[in-house]
Amino acid sequence: MKLNKIEHIGIAVKSIEEALKYYENILGLKCYAIEEVQDQKVKTAFLKIGETKLELLEATSSESPIAKFIEKRGEGIHHIAFETDKIEETLNEIKNKGIRLIDETPRKGAEGLQIAFLHPKSTNGVLTEICSK
Ligand code: ZN
Repeated sequence: MKLNKIEHIGIAVKSIEEALKYYENILGLKCYAIEEVQDQKVKTAFLKIGETKLELLEATSSESPIAKFIEKRGEGIHHIAFETDKIEETLNEIKNKGIRLIDETPRKGAEGLQIAFLHPKSTNGVLTEICSK
């Protein structure tokens, strides 16, 4: 198993436009992309900081997992994404070690990444994303 880095941290927000005021005006980061992932019923905004990114997630429908997350827990950190070069291999290895996967096979995420989520019940409460280019 080899993970390269924290690719991004996903943060659930009610409004990307509102949240960007904080990240851009106060923290001085720059949003370089806004993208809708229809599959997930979310709009995403990306900001880069060093090797890592922040991914702001806004629900585009009340059915969105992000809408449900905010309803239950409020705005805040939603997931951590680790980058690997070989996503299928990594997922198999994780699964064989007894971790519950949400996505058995990778699917398409924002920025053209292949992504898969691990179940937070298996990961000490942290929704974990594995991704690769
Ligand atoms: Zn993510």
